[in-house]
This record gives sequence, structure tokens and C-alpha cells, in this order.
Amino acid sequence: AKEQGRKGFQFYQADMSQSSRERFELEADLRIALEQQSLQIYYQPQVCLASNQIVGVEALIRWPHPEKGMIPPDRFIGLAEENGLIHPLGAWVLRRACEDAARWYQQGYALRVSVNVSARQLNRSAFVSQVAEVLQKTGLPAKYLELELTETYLFENFTRSARVLRRLQQLGVSLALDDFGTGYSSLNYLRRLRLPRLKIDRSFISGLPENREDLVLVSTILAMAQSLGMKVVAEGVETDAQRQCLADLQCHEYQGYFYARPETCAELEARLMRLSER
Ligand code: C2E
Ligand code: CA
Ligand code: CA
Ligand code: CA
Repeated sequence: AKEQGRKGFQFYQADMSQSSRERFELEADLRIALEQQSLQIYYQPQVCLASNQIVGVEALIRWPHPEKGMIPPDRFIGLAEENGLIHPLGAWVLRRACEDAARWYQQGYALRVSVNVSARQLNRSAFVSQVAEVLQKTGLPAKYLELELTETYLFENFTRSARVLRRLQQLGVSLALDDFGTGYSSLNYLRRLRLPRLKIDRSFISGLPENREDLVLVSTILAMAQSLGMKVVAEGVETDAQRQCLADLQCHEYQGYFYARPETCAELEARLMRLSER
């Protein structure tokens, strides 16, 4: 029977396609990286268009792989969502981001930290208490934490998500709708959810200021957000012309390579010090 088991395993291994073997290895490596806490968080500034001040940072996970180099999140978040590793991974990001932000707060920088939350995390009944516990343990005032959510989850389970979001807002944390424009937002849902902030996806920003259609779309999104009382962050701003155009349209904040790429915590802290010395 043992012999057979081995054979069975070998057969299975030989049969695995190249890509599923890669996934299998990546999953094993990700487990190790989580255990050894070798994942990293990079921070990208979110800048107020009116004052040019950094008002927040988005936490973006990075995986420095011993052989494969830096692996971007798009290559392992989906995998982690499928195999459940998103739960320990998401908990780690939330904890670490709040620890860092609590330190900035104590150093006198009033910076909001935005953490990406996947649908699977929100669906767990313990999520709200997990957030409450992290805030309590790190001492970060709730208003300095923002959770970035995507449309898919919110609108697929509207009644349930509305309830979870209400409880999160009762804690005092801020919420932002990420990648706005790429999903199926219904205006009615958007109105009923009353989220404080919305992030316009990079795909609408890249054509600014020349592309007429993008310009119309972005102005329309801004007008709609204003009537719903939502603040707007533009994502993926790469040029000064884009930044200027968004300022003219009275967008509130922007984020993108034009101001800064995502950087390590130490690099961000050095930047904050430099800015405050001026
Ligand atoms: P996202 O939430 O839409 O994050 C913005 C992405 O755009 C980031 O990619 C950022 O590095 C990139 N970006 C920022 N400014 C610019 C720009 O000016 N030009 C261009 N071309 N790109 C820009 P990144 O860091 O590779 O993250 C990709 C996605 O992975 C994120 O998209 C988010 O959906 C997900 N992700 C990252 N960290 C986490 C996490 O901790 N948890 C979860 N659940 N998802 C995460
Ligand atoms: Ca995001
Ligand atoms: Ca986004
Ligand atoms: Ca995105």
C-alpha cells in the first residue's frame, strides 16, 4: 500500500502542469514567508491637492523572495485568497500598518494609514473585532486607520456588507472604495453605503489631461462624489499635468509615481522628517 501511495504521488507530481507546480511552490514559500515574517510593507503617500501636504499613506505588501526577487502582490494575493492564507497575511498587514502609524502619531505626524482589505477578510465574522483589537493594542486613534475595499464584495452581498461597514464606521475607522469605476457600482448602493471616500482607478487618470472622454468621466465622478458627500483620491498620477488637471477639477487628494513610489517605512520616515524641517 505504501508503494502504491508513493507511485500515486509521483504520478500526480508528473501530471501537474508547469503552472500548477509553480503555484504549489509559491504557496509553500508564502507559508514560510508568513511564518518567518519576511513579508514587507511599503508605503505610498497620499497628497492633498490644495495644500500639497502628505495626509495619508497606503500600505502595499511586498514579498522579497530568496530566489525570485521581489514578488508584487498581484502575483500572490489571489492565491492567498484561494487557499485562505489571506487571513494571517491580512491580519499581519493590519497589525504592522497600525503599529507604524501609531509610532508616526506619537512622533507628531497626523497621518492616516490605508490598508487594503480583501473580500474574504470582510466576510469573516471576527473581522470587526479584529480591527477593534488592533486599534486598542497599538493605541492608534481609529480615525487614522482607513480600510480600502473593492466594489465586488460590497455589491454582491449588499445587506451583509452594509451591516459590517456600519459597525466599522462605529469604531471610527475611515472607509474608502478602491479602484472606483472598474466594477459594477450602482449609484443606489453607493448612496446607501455612505462611504467617506472613493479612489478613482488609475485607468481613468492615465489619459488626463488630453483624453476628452477621461476628462468627462473624471469630472462626472467628482460631481457625483461631491453630491454624495464623498472625498476623492485619484490613483496612479504620474505627471505634473495630471496633477494640475485634478487640482483644477477640485479633486481632494492624489497618489502616484509623480509624487512618490511606494517606499519602505524607513524611507517614508526620512521623507517626513525632511519635509517637517523645511
Ligand atoms: P491597489 O490597491 O489599486 O494599489 C495601487 C497599485 O498601483 C500599487 O501596486 C501601486 O504600487 C501602484 N501604483 C501607485 N502609483 C502608481 C503610478 O503612478 N503608476 C502606476 N503604474 N502604478 C502605480 P502594487 O503595490 O503592485 O499592488 C497591487 C495590488 O495588490 C493593489 O492594488 C491591491 O489590490 C493589492 N494589494 C497590495 N497590498 C495588499 C494587501 O496588503 N492586502 C490586500 N488584500 N491586497 C493588497
Ligand atoms: Ca488600494
Ligand atoms: Ca486602487
Ligand atoms: Ca488596483
